[in-house]
Amino acid sequence: MNFFKRTADKLKKGLKATKSVWNEGFNKAFNLNTTIDDDLIDEIEEILLLSDVGVDTTNILIKNLKKTVSEQQVKNPPEIKNILKNEMLKLIDYHEKQDINLNKNLHVVLVVGVNGTGKTTSIGKLANFFKNQNKKVIISASDTFRAGAIDQLSIWANKLDISLVSNGMGSDPASVAYTAVEKSIKEKADVLLIDTAGRLHNNQNLMMELSKIQRVIKKVVADAPHEVLLVLDGSTGQNAFIQAEQFSKVTDINGLIVTKLDGTSKGGAIIGISSKMKIPIRYIGVGEAADDLIPFVPEQYLDLLLFDKNLN
Ligand code: GDP
Ligand code: MG
Repeated sequence: MNFFKRTADKLKKGLKATKSVWNEGFNKAFNLNTTIDDDLIDEIEEILLLSDVGVDTTNILIKNLKKTVSEQQVKNPPEIKNILKNEMLKLIDYHEKQDINLNKNLHVVLVVGVNGTGKTTSIGKLANFFKNQNKKVIISASDTFRAGAIDQLSIWANKLDISLVSNGMGSDPASVAYTAVEKSIKEKADVLLIDTAGRLHNNQNLMMELSKIQRVIKKVVADAPHEVLLVLDGSTGQNAFIQAEQFSKVTDINGLIVTKLDGTSKGGAIIGISSKMKIPIRYIGVGEAADDLIPFVPEQYLDLLLFDKNLN
């Protein structure tokens, strides 16, 4: 099976729960309403709220939907899906380059987020993703707060046969990162992925730790980190949004990884988060296996949720 087909299947399977909220909701709404009226719009609003798009973003979408329906004199209820798709795209598509520019000598990615959201697992998956593109990947175990994180990463590193830089539990996260950058340069790695601890309850420490890591790695590579990716647990819906807000106060975030979209019906949260934070979602996680990380393509995501379109 080729990469795209496999990715499409994974995405489809992973988004099953959200997809059924949308499918059933829209079908029911269109069956019950032959014209576009306030009742129908109310039902659309409910679908968006149920899948955790969030109140603010839902309000924007409904307002724009009503406007377009009246301006273009749209009569046929199923047309609503196309209008929604366009309105959602406007809110979540940043048209920034989705793929990491790997032509640089070394691409340093700092991965941040609250404990349990899926940082370490996402790093394993990212490592696999880049390795499959024949990139040389190195991982820095800079979550030195929990022994489990280091063990978890060494399992990934062994499985993928890539180097892991670690200095044991309790060691200085920034110094591990520094060693990892030096090693990456020396060994001409393409990508360095840095894991971090996520103690959000202690904002001050977290901020200090993250800025120290950034300061220290800049000593070796002045423009590093090239990306700071925030990992959010998609199954927590609006909670993920609060985390995104809190983290963006602590450090600059370039992109999001939204995990655990498999088995949740709250996949709409992605639309709310991206639209409010104005941060592109780079990848989504739809399971625990190495290939369960999918580059996020807004249109593909919406096509799947709204139209159940096959992606290839
Ligand atoms: P961290 O504390 O942020 O490093 O989080 P971990 O990477 O340790 O992940 C916490 C738990 O979430 C683990 O049991 C992972 O296997 C699980 N997990 C991570 N990403 C996904 C995902 O996309 N889907 C599912 N179902 N589980 C995930
Ligand atoms: Mg971890």
